[in-house]
Amino acid sequence: MSATVGGYLNKRLLRINVGFLLSEGPGNSREIPIEFSQRVQVDEDLFLGALTGRLILTRTKEGILVQGQLNVAHERECDRCLEEFEHRFGLDIAELYASPPGANKSAFSVDSNGEIDLAPLLREEVLIEATYRVVCQDSCRGLCAETGDKLVGESGLRDRGDDFAENFTEIDPRLAVLKQLL
Ligand SMILES: [Zn+2]
Repeated sequence: MSATVGGYLNKRLLRINVGFLLSEGPGNSREIPIEFSQRVQVDEDLFLGALTGRLILTRTKEGILVQGQLNVAHERECDRCLEEFEHRFGLDIAELYASPPGANKSAFSVDSNGEIDLAPLLREEVLIEATYRVVCQDSCRGLCAETGDKLVGESGLRDRGDDFAENFTEIDPRLAVLKQLL
């Protein structure tokens, strides 16, 4: 069964079955690798270019505590030159999924199938991040006030691709392989 539809991964892949953990006592935990190196849908209008990292799921008295770090690639518009680029950043995740639902004030819960859905959590986190200004690269000089053209100067434009490959390699070496394929 392929979960790839129209060139992206379906957001149902962001659901994780935690039934096994619920049946264990509080204090038990599992480490879950998150490895989506291609475009994944988070919501109708939100896609991520990549999503990788690790989450630790811990059974607590209140439900399932989800903690960890995720590396995210999200298409944004540069605030200086207005060009689209892939903004890459890390997200610190720490969220309780209540079980049973409504047992406390958590906004998230384990559903009746024993699954947690990372999509609404990711949407919330990514949209918060998207309220901050970003530039395609530190040296971006933006647009010419007179012509509206993108400014390129000798001290200005570096090779964006190489710069990004470098940054991404630090986050996840597997993506360097992916970049070669692309
Ligand atoms: Zn720019």
